[in-house]
Amino acid sequence: MTNTQKTSLTDNMYCLGIESTADDFGVGIARFNGEILANAVEGYVPIEGGIHPREAARHHAEVADKVFCQALTDAKIKPKDLTCISFSMGPGLGPCLRTGATVARALASYLQIPLVGVNHSVAHIEIGKLETGATDPVTLYASGGNTMVTAFESKRYRVFGETLDIALGNCLDVFGRQAGLKNQKGLPLGAAIEQLALKGKNLITLPYVVKGMDLSLSGLLTAATTQLQKEKHPIEDVCYSLQEHAFAMVAEITERALAHTEKKEVLLTGGVAANKRLQTMLKAITEEHDASFNVVPQKFATDNGAMIAWTGTLAYTHGLITPINESYVKLRWRVDKVDVPWIN
Ligand code: AMP
Ligand code: MG
Repeated sequence: MTNTQKTSLTDNMYCLGIESTADDFGVGIARFNGEILANAVEGYVPIEGGIHPREAARHHAEVADKVFCQALTDAKIKPKDLTCISFSMGPGLGPCLRTGATVARALASYLQIPLVGVNHSVAHIEIGKLETGATDPVTLYASGGNTMVTAFESKRYRVFGETLDIALGNCLDVFGRQAGLKNQKGLPLGAAIEQLALKGKNLITLPYVVKGMDLSLSGLLTAATTQLQKEKHPIEDVCYSLQEHAFAMVAEITERALAHTEKKEVLLTGGVAANKRLQTMLKAITEEHDASFNVVPQKFATDNGAMIAWTGTLAYTHGLITPINESYVKLRWRVDKVDVPWIN
């Protein structure tokens, strides 16, 4: 088969991907040649407190048909044009994952096309690579539920370092709620903290906990919240200090992974990747190692269906199809348990 023939074949192949690991319900559509045609999403916003898994799952069930139709409209294709359906199989919150999986199974069965279970963390890395052109990066994946430094080594994305307790985004969100910040104009709390931090002037000493290649953020969160409650420092200074400490920790382990692997690219992905201060810090360490710094575009930073659709095309073309009766979700599916045969 010639290259031209190959291109024209993949031009007419589409994967629809469903994301539902936590608060976002997303449906994306990717062409097999890497073009993202749709990335529709509806986020669940808790009335109070953090994500309630059952409430979020109910939200996902309610918006599923609307988001699905939106994605098809955006992509300008019909369900019969789809080649396969992929879905986030884990890791994530059980009720949320099961809702997405149910929608995916129903669609694959009805359309009589293959189902492809995708690892959510792998998808964050793959969309970052697709969108930035990075090919073999050390990746810092920092989101509401995950914080890890990974790089490809012997068939899999290996974890070089990770949080021992809460994720970076979760640390920011909990602090934001304790501080009484609100999701104004739909902005995530991490973004609200980023804005306040810009006005911070004094660096308060807070716990900095890096253990080997791993880190711990819960002590930092407690200390930052305590500083706020004591009202000794303005909120801007606490936000600034929280960011400086937390971001320095993730930058430290990313730098060590880069020095160890001697890779030539760094990729920042996940919802927290939107943070400009984090981007600046990582760029600085990357340049010291003569590597290139890549950050996922904002619309693909937070959880989204496009990344699941794109990873679905990679898995499908390498024969990774998930039989419906084996499509149970995996709440703690680690990235280093997943073979990625599309990388040599
Ligand atoms: P995800 O889990 O990938 O959907 O990402 C959501 C997380 O990203 C939440 O914890 C948000 O607070 C965080 N986030 C989004 N924008 C920013 C930002 N500008 N700075 C820091 N964190 C952010
Ligand atoms: Mg999310």
